[in-house]
Amino acid sequence: MKEYKITLLKGDGIGPEIVNEAVKVLDKVAEKHQFSIQYEDAYLGGIAIDKTGVPLPEETVAKCKASDAVLLGAVGGPKWENQPGNNRPEAGLLGIRGALGLFANLRPAVIFEPLREASPLKAEIIGEAMDILVVRELTGGIYFGERGRKEKDGVPAAYDTEMYTVAEVERIARVAFRMAMKRGKKLCSVDKANVLESSRLWRETVIKVSKEFPEVELNHLYVDNCAMQLVRNPKQFDVIVTSNIFGDILSDEASMISGSIGMLASASLGEGKLGLYEPIHGSAPDIAGQGIANPLATILSVAMMLRYSLDQDEAADDIEKAVNEVLKTYRTPDIYTDGTKKVSCAEMGDLVCAQLQG
Ligand code: NAD
Repeated sequence: MKEYKITLLKGDGIGPEIVNEAVKVLDKVAEKHQFSIQYEDAYLGGIAIDKTGVPLPEETVAKCKASDAVLLGAVGGPKWENQPGNNRPEAGLLGIRGALGLFANLRPAVIFEPLREASPLKAEIIGEAMDILVVRELTGGIYFGERGRKEKDGVPAAYDTEMYTVAEVERIARVAFRMAMKRGKKLCSVDKANVLESSRLWRETVIKVSKEFPEVELNHLYVDNCAMQLVRNPKQFDVIVTSNIFGDILSDEASMISGSIGMLASASLGEGKLGLYEPIHGSAPDIAGQGIANPLATILSVAMMLRYSLDQDEAADDIEKAVNEVLKTYRTPDIYTDGTKKVSCAEMGDLVCAQLQG
């Protein structure tokens, strides 16, 4: 029987509640598909500050590196708001991504059929369903480029620099093409090649890499046009690949089309199989400890983990189907609508498990 090692970074706020439900689901799907999981807990964020004085202890990095995948709840909360910038819970998040060499951020924007009415877009624009994957470069570009302050024309000014190496574009492009191969075999590369030299290099390089993936249909959009197309006709997209800054903005736009923050999963990947999987929402301190958080974003992050780190595609499909079924009848308070049954965080986890059982 195949055995995998998963490190759990439950974090703060609702983190422990939602990760516990995701673990229930992972155990259930493992039993069904005959593989086993060994878990290791480690501290990250506020809890790590409380226990060790720093948001990312060395021991956490070592445990994550020794595992097949990492599942993260969320970090942060009012308790740690007065910590200095480099010792805030969020610094642990950036630190772990850096330490694991995670340069690709994957954000699916999915509308489950039963939740169509939660989308701010009209039903005819969404159609039957929507399923977009935004692949964002995470460790390069303007967020990491040369920056500074200087005088321009005798007045104070500031600058930031967008720079990408060919190697950086090649590796993110390959991730995106591989994702497209696992999905609808369509890739849209987003840049601003009509204005920016770095975008022209981006486009040339993506075209070069596309020769390695002849089955994938590649097209290019300028970022301003892509922002419009996402709300005008989101169904045209399968996988989108883009730079750090454009991806930051477009992935938020795409995910809001789904309308429910408690439903959105994400993955961060590096060169190898090891990945970090987490919901996109934060630690929701306003509802922590009440048992009402929606665990589905974390459960769907487990589906991504099965697909991208553990090569258990059928188990991943099973989880997504089970979530879709459960949503037809049951909802946590954040996505509740008349005619459905309101359930707690733990009940939602149990319902997904029961659905997997069949
Ligand atoms: P948030 O995402 O935690 O919460 C925003 C709103 O959405 C809140 O009303 C919350 O109750 C609700 N919400 C979020 N997740 C939910 C879920 N699963 N089920 C039901 N409702 C949910 O964002 P925030 O309030 O701006 O930030 C709270 C803390 O989380 C801050 O300390 C922030 O720095 C941190 N944060 C962490 C991450 C992360 O760990 N990746 C991401 C964003 C924010």
